[in-house]
Amino acid sequence: TVDHIVPIAYDSTIRADQGNLATICRECHRLKTQWEQYYYGTAQNIAKKDVTEIHDIHRIVVLMHQK
Ligand SMILES: [Zn+2]
Repeated sequence: TVDHIVPIAYDSTIRADQGNLATICRECHRLKTQWEQYYYGTAQNIAKKDVTEIHDIHRIVVLMHQK
């Protein structure tokens, strides 16, 4: 799966930024999407949060396994 490191649901201006893309397996993508909904507030019907965009994949991996 090709993943947007910072979700475009949070920041649509980076849609075409190739530096924001990473390959990721399905299970990690599922976990990351859950983390994004919590961290960025990108789940449907809730307000997006005003947070720092995290571009460091290694930091994201740590964070998405913490919950
Ligand atoms: Zn994986």
